[in-house]
Amino acid sequence: MNDAAPLGILSAIPEELRHLEDRTEGSETLAGLSFHRGRIEGRAAVFVETGIGKVNAALTATILAQHFGCRALIFGGVAGGIDPALGIGDVVVATKLVQHDYGALVDGRIEAYQPGIAPLPGVDRSPGYYMGRTLETNLRAALAGIELPSLAASVTGEAARQASLHFGTVVSGDTFVNCGMTRERMEREFGALAVEMEGAAVAQVAERFGRPWIVVRCLSDLAGVDSHLNFPAFLPVAAKAAAVVVRQAVQVL
Ligand code: SAH
Repeated sequence: MNDAAPLGILSAIPEELRHLEDRTEGSETLAGLSFHRGRIEGRAAVFVETGIGKVNAALTATILAQHFGCRALIFGGVAGGIDPALGIGDVVVATKLVQHDYGALVDGRIEAYQPGIAPLPGVDRSPGYYMGRTLETNLRAALAGIELPSLAASVTGEAARQASLHFGTVVSGDTFVNCGMTRERMEREFGALAVEMEGAAVAQVAERFGRPWIVVRCLSDLAGVDSHLNFPAFLPVAAKAAAVVVRQAVQVL
């Protein structure tokens, strides 16, 4: 892939994109979506707000890859925490992304399959898109020691603490998780650190086009009964922290 090709920078909602976007080099509207050309950390980039959910994310990612020839797709935004060891403000870099809502409904529950695979008994059930080894190694090196914002007690609602960075599994689906029972199931079934609504769709499209992907999510809530209250309260600070990590991450591309 040509080094001069732009990076595709995606976020789902304006609060997330605000901290990344640079609109200096013109805009184009396609499928009702506004694509802005600019630069990130000195690299040519196309910035776009996808809208919420997997289909919006997949549509936008496809346009970035096909129309703009983006050489990598990078998503920056917020997520609900799944791993109980993590708190609001912690940042997760996905090394594996799973679409938790593609699959078969069995005994009232979804058994996840890899998108496109027939979701039938006897068919291999090991869903997930994986970040390549080399990219992961480079990212871990580039992000080691990164300074994340310290979180005041007024921000966490608990004690003041330093946010931390984690690498691991993120699950994506077309539902806002506002449910402790689902949160526990997602931890058990997927070993997930976080849940959101777009990342694994971007990974599916990026993989189809043979382009690398990076998904960075800062926890805005903990996906439990309070998540609908925490999400709007912590969105601004979480979106900003995710952008700090995205800016450092794109330097490996
Ligand atoms: N009411 C909000 C809706 C946000 S949906 C609004 O009007 O903007 C939540 C967004 O943040 C999605 O894009 C998703 O990727 C991410 N997200 C944050 N917390 C989440 C959670 N608990 N479950 C699923 N997605 C979550």
